[in-house]
Amino acid sequence: MPEKFDVIVVGAGPAGTACAFTCAKNGLKVLQIERGEYPGSKNVMGGVLYRKQLEEIIPDFWKEAPLERPIVEQRFWMMDKESTVNFSYKGLEWGREPYNNFTVLRAPFDQWFAQKGVNEGVLLINETVVTDCLVENGKVIGVRTDRPDGEVLADVVVLADGVNSLLGKKLGFHKEFRPDEVALTVMEVINLPKEKINDRFNLEDGQGCTIEIFGDSTKGNLGTAFLYTNKESLNIGVGTTLSSMMKAKLKPYDLLDHLKNHPMVKPLLSGGESAEYLAHLIPEGGYHSVPKVIGNGVLVIGDAAQLVNAIHREGSNMAMSSGKMAAEAIVKAKVRNDFSEVGLSSYRDSLYNSFIIKDLEKYKNAAHTFEQYPQYFKDYIPMMNQAASKFFTVDGTPKKDKQKQIMKSVTGEKGTLKVLSDMYRAWKAVK
Ligand SMILES: Cc1cc2nc3c(=O)[nH]c(=O)nc-3n(C[C@H](O)[C@H](O)[C@H](O)COP(=O)(O)OP(=O)(O)OC[C@H]3O[C@@H](n4cnc5c(N)ncnc54)[C@H](O)[C@@H]3O)c2cc1C
Repeated sequence: MPEKFDVIVVGAGPAGTACAFTCAKNGLKVLQIERGEYPGSKNVMGGVLYRKQLEEIIPDFWKEAPLERPIVEQRFWMMDKESTVNFSYKGLEWGREPYNNFTVLRAPFDQWFAQKGVNEGVLLINETVVTDCLVENGKVIGVRTDRPDGEVLADVVVLADGVNSLLGKKLGFHKEFRPDEVALTVMEVINLPKEKINDRFNLEDGQGCTIEIFGDSTKGNLGTAFLYTNKESLNIGVGTTLSSMMKAKLKPYDLLDHLKNHPMVKPLLSGGESAEYLAHLIPEGGYHSVPKVIGNGVLVIGDAAQLVNAIHREGSNMAMSSGKMAAEAIVKAKVRNDFSEVGLSSYRDSLYNSFIIKDLEKYKNAAHTFEQYPQYFKDYIPMMNQAASKFFTVDGTPKKDKQKQIMKSVTGEKGTLKVLSDMYRAWKAVK
């Protein structure tokens, strides 16, 4: 007879570990199964970890977690071929407790987080793939793994198996992705001495900065690039939706090379040594792509439930919060000994009343709008750069005339009505 647990969690990313930790802390018998050699060994992230949602699980985690730098500055670059229009916020308050967010490297962070679960009593098994959920009379009753005699039973199975949740697909929770629902992102970790990072990014020890780059970073296609500072390395990456990649015949590694060689980026990386090259999918379908998240004896959390807010690059926090909410629903279900879809329904209620679904709903039409109308990335970013260049070039033209010339070149190229309707559409998509 296979061994039985209260809960089996598949995956040891932020979602799975938040759920396993919270279940174990509430006295449940938890098995967590991870296919990688260790938690984090297969995981990829640009690197921004949000304080608030992890603090709700592990108070004061920053005193012991392997974090890179607290982020004190967020920069946004609207980049053309040899110029950028930038805006940013730098706040030294973010460099002190309670902080806002941090850069992290996933391998050390995920291992640390999973160990916190183990300390609470989670049984973590690495290097094991869950191949199927065991279903009896319409209820998930356990999992099958690739180990000999690898069947294990549980009252509840939690799918935290990431963006391409094969188990969710097998249960019919979601279908194959459409190419516009996922982004393919490639990134590189580049080692660079701390002093160079501080000088080049205008930082001190214990301060970090993030740069999000739009426009020429994706050759004018829908998508973004990022450059984040760690203690002694930089994370640089770029991604676009699969549909944009296919339409523009882009190769992800060519895009990364293009970015690294851009005249605005190259000097920041100069002398660095490549330490890691990674590629991963990001679920970007948003609100419309969130699948059914509860079945009889099963819950879906994190990327497996497509919980990513691509506009604000939030994913790890949504993964952790959804993991915690799922655990709280399981604890309630245990009291009533009802692990049916109805018995677990408080997970759905918590999720839909939280910032997660509210934020996804707010931006529910954004990705589609920017995908359908490529002019925002292709035309308006170069136009912004040309306008800024004209405005700031001192050539004896009176400023009022300059303003008129700029307006004329913007509206002249597209027509006033077209510009106004483009602006209105963009505002509607993100309002
Ligand atoms: C390039 C990139 C940059 C990003 N940048 C940010 C950022 O800056 N900030 C942010 O908040 N989010 C970011 N994200 C999103 C963030 O990484 C995810 O939202 C988050 O990792 C989701 O956590 P998860 O636990 O749901 O999934 P994952 O982290 O993908 O974890 C899933 C785990 O399940 C395991 N697994 C899968 N299948 C099985 C199986 N069958 N059996 C056993 N184990 C299995 C995997 O090995 C993995 O460990 C980024 C993502 C990418 C790709």
